[in-house]
Amino acid sequence: MRLREYRLKANLTQQQLASKLGCSKAFISQVENHKKEVSVKLLVHIATILDICPCVLLNFRCTHN
Ligand SMILES: [Zn+2]
Repeated sequence: MRLREYRLKANLTQQQLASKLGCSKAFISQVENHKKEVSVKLLVHIATILDICPCVLLNFRCTHN
């Protein structure tokens, strides 16, 4: 999941994103380091916060970016 790249594009720190999601900064770090997978529900929530299509985070080709 290409979270770090898009979190930085949205000018959010790990702590800011964690607060918006209601999870811990440590969890965000683990996801960014590919040590944790997220649920579909959380994926959609992250994509909504970052204002991008969920498929972009998953590195799928799509026309929604
Ligand atoms: Zn898409």
